Amino acid sequence: MDQYRVFGNPINHSRSPYIHCCFAQQTDQQLNYQSQFVELTAFAMTIKQFSAQGGRGANVTVPFKEQALSLCDQLSERARLAGAVNTLSFNDGVIIGDNTDGLGLVQDLLNNDVVLKNSRVLLLGAGGAARGVILPLLEQQISKLVIANRTVSKAQDLCQQFTDTKLTAIGFNEIEEQPFDLIINATSASLSGDVPPISEKLIARKTVCYDMVYGKELTPFLNWAKMQGSDTILDGLGMLVGQAAESFKLWRGVKPETSLVLNKLREELMQGA
Ligand code: NDP
Repeated sequence: MDQYRVFGNPINHSRSPYIHCCFAQQTDQQLNYQSQFVELTAFAMTIKQFSAQGGRGANVTVPFKEQALSLCDQLSERARLAGAVNTLSFNDGVIIGDNTDGLGLVQDLLNNDVVLKNSRVLLLGAGGAARGVILPLLEQQISKLVIANRTVSKAQDLCQQFTDTKLTAIGFNEIEEQPFDLIINATSASLSGDVPPISEKLIARKTVCYDMVYGKELTPFLNWAKMQGSDTILDGLGMLVGQAAESFKLWRGVKPETSLVLNKLREELMQGA
């Protein structure tokens, strides 16, 4: 049976084996997908071993996404611009790298009827997650993408990778005080109970607010956005399932339906499983 893995450190929390097992059942694909803990110094060796043993593909998660990029013989444009790889395919010893995180986000937004074309988008954060979503967002023909980060130089460095004039990089206190159509929180602030320090004037009722973090409770950012009157708040669980669906499609040539798995994961999350 075709073998797939997700490699990470830590890895116990990973929902990927469950998600891919559901996808395989749904699409009638015969495959085995497991999670594997990797010592911090053993990533390259582990990937080469898995490829040599006939592994067909793998997902890569924290903290190996950048290392994975350097192991690849071929890279998609998305992965190159993201500076990180979350999906590996093995083809007769050739390692092909892609990044599906941004596609997962875009797909989740579209599934939630968010209109991206011609929209003004504010992206908070300039880490790996922010970097990975820039190209997929630009491909949706948004009209403006403002990247704001606590460390402004990191946002500026990110911007320089792209030649698109729709992009600007600034600090949180420099954002023009006008409502955006979409605000994406790609910082890890929610994990420490914080909200990026942005003005409430950036939010109108129609402003869609998205936090890449997800959990049983509303994240601090989504809670704050709701209090400012945003009608549409979305967390990152759909992005997680969306990126998995895109990886599955790359490997198996068939794109699974995501809403069933997403609903099951949401139920588990609410039960605190
Ligand atoms: P990084 O560590 O690469 O980047 C962290 C970012 O958050 C930086 O821009 C950092 O700013 C900013 N930040 C951290 N704390 C604060 C704070 N208190 N206030 C304001 N800004 C802050 O992380 P990633 O980019 O890899 O991940 C970001 C988040 O996205 C994580 O929480 C991760 O769980 C989530 N994620 C979710 C996915 C999903 O599928 N749902 C997929 C990938 C990521 P500075 O540069 O100034 O340090």
